[in-house]
Amino acid sequence: MLFTITYRGHNTEKLGFLLYKNPSRPQKFELGFGNAYVFYPELSCEKTTAALLLDINPIDLARGKDNAGGLFDYVNDRPYVSSSFMSVAISGIFRTAMTGRADEHQELSDCPLDLEAVITMLSCRSDTAMLTKVFEPLGYEVGYESFTMDENFSDWGDSKYVNLTLKGKIRLRDLLKHIYILIPVFDRQKHYWIGNDEVEKLLRNAGDWLSSHPEKGFITSRYLKKLNPLVNMAFSRLVSANETAKENQQDEIPAEIQEKKLNLNEQRLGSVVAALKNCRARSVIDIGCGEGNLLRSLAREKQFENIAGADVSCLALERAKEKLKIGDNRNEQHEGPRINLFQSSLTYKDSRFKGYDAVCIIEVIEHLDVSRITAFEHILFEFTKPRFIILTTPNREYNIKYEHIKEGALRHSDHRFEWTRDEFRAWAEKTAERFGYTVKISNIGEIDKDLGSSTQMGVFTLNE
Ligand code: SAH
Repeated sequence: MLFTITYRGHNTEKLGFLLYKNPSRPQKFELGFGNAYVFYPELSCEKTTAALLLDINPIDLARGKDNAGGLFDYVNDRPYVSSSFMSVAISGIFRTAMTGRADEHQELSDCPLDLEAVITMLSCRSDTAMLTKVFEPLGYEVGYESFTMDENFSDWGDSKYVNLTLKGKIRLRDLLKHIYILIPVFDRQKHYWIGNDEVEKLLRNAGDWLSSHPEKGFITSRYLKKLNPLVNMAFSRLVSANETAKENQQDEIPAEIQEKKLNLNEQRLGSVVAALKNCRARSVIDIGCGEGNLLRSLAREKQFENIAGADVSCLALERAKEKLKIGDNRNEQHEGPRINLFQSSLTYKDSRFKGYDAVCIIEVIEHLDVSRITAFEHILFEFTKPRFIILTTPNREYNIKYEHIKEGALRHSDHRFEWTRDEFRAWAEKTAERFGYTVKISNIGEIDKDLGSSTQMGVFTLNE
């Protein structure tokens, strides 16, 4: 199998620097499943092509498998198609290029180039329309060559494999990441075990382009081979990455409304900190901490000796790290208590949530799918079971006071629901009773006598 990248323009031989592979010297790489070769079939100022040839050895593939698949272990399509083996080869051999690092040629690496990639023998199970739906939104002109299965049997139709050509003005690292993730999406047979680190791989290589891709559902579920908990986890993390991106586009909201929002945020933080002080909590974890605004307020107060923040979105955590000035050398940069930040989801058990006096869930519950609320309740109230839980969520009734929110709409496009005061109270009281807590509900923000306040807060105390 062959994968080629062609660069057209000026001084295109610099492709060699970007790929960290010398054009004047073909190279061989030994991989566990065969050999890979990198060479340049064409090298000129105007046009340079780099090729990665993968020579899979079916005997190597079958080794150690106890012949579990019978003859299929030896006679199958794997050596002749672009599959996850090709992805593994790309990520191993072009690892530095995928990070975008290019030393003296950084400028070229950061720049979209006129690139064309050809992936030979990619399985698409005759669903060629999907090739366009997946690659076009990423900025490629998509072409493919299909083949008759057997000229002697025309009714067998076309083969399920195509040679795919992608052309675009794109950075080399993006092209490599797209192909790395999307080959297995089409091929569907991964040769290695699919575990949690697949979610990490997906988010590492696709975090910035998949969250807004119209086919993200298809791509995520195919990539993770429809293993539902993994798909859900990847999805929820993608959604929140998307949400943070959307929050960056807040310019459309008029300044005075932004100011009101800011005030409300401050009031919310003030109320949460006051509630925590009231509980005499010394250790606090803020789950769904976002960019770490609450953590920053907590760090200023002596009472809080042990502070942690968790969020499902890596992007939000990166921002929190920056805001809290948590670097590699934390103690030098940060004067208050050490803040432990980690990535996790509220809908999966995580023992790192345990051991704090109080857990804060601030404006997060409305981001969870309704179908995950039961899991969330068990994880928070039964598995984590802190002495205090402080949870805030918008009051839907109050939305009509915001002119920029259309009638019946929710406050944020990522909110899955918003509760009225009665709905929140009913949920909070039922949940408290079920798990042995007592709850007190209060208002945050200006109170309208008919509508209540903008945000509602529940303080749950574990019964002794
Ligand atoms: N608590 C912060 C951020 C609220 S925005 C504040 O008040 O400013 C909602 C946050 O919840 C986002 O940062 C989002 O990434 C996070 N989130 C959404 N689903 C989550 C989940 N399942 N587990 C943990 N965090 C989640």
